[in-house]
Amino acid sequence: MDATKNIGREHAKWSPVETTGYRMLPEMNLKTRIVGATAKRLVNVCPAKVFDIEDDVAVVARPRDCTVCRECIREPEWEERVELTRKRDRFIFSVESTGAMPAPTLVTEALSVLTGKCDLVLAALDAALKHRTTHDNGVDEENPDVEMDESEGS
Ligand code: SF4
Repeated sequence: MDATKNIGREHAKWSPVETTGYRMLPEMNLKTRIVGATAKRLVNVCPAKVFDIEDDVAVVARPRDCTVCRECIREPEWEERVELTRKRDRFIFSVESTGAMPAPTLVTEALSVLTGKCDLVLAALDAALKHRTTHDNGVDEENPDVEMDESEGS
């Protein structure tokens, strides 16, 4: 039996990545000091066990585990105590590997490919801007002594 090495861009059968997804980082803010029986109710209302009790006071212990089910703000009384938002510039990625490569290596490699593509786009933009400036000025920036023909490129 032969094995063929290739990349996922050629065909999905070579992709080392299984299910991948991302979500915005949830953020909980306790607006008031929640203590005693109310703190216990808050801990119990959360199916993801995000809250803990420290010295009889409710605290946000595991914000990353939040599934944004909204149970902790469903009742009006909780909405006055708990603020639930999402950080718009922080993301939690979930990457599953087929086993061909460890997931952390996949992420590192993917970021490296993405960085390379960004460099290509930046270089193309740079070249386009240079070309446009040259035409706007009517001067070839690489040969400033040479005046460009107005009809060039039209
Ligand atoms: S939204 Fe749901 S999972 Fe998140 S903290 Fe509230 S109850 Fe827990």
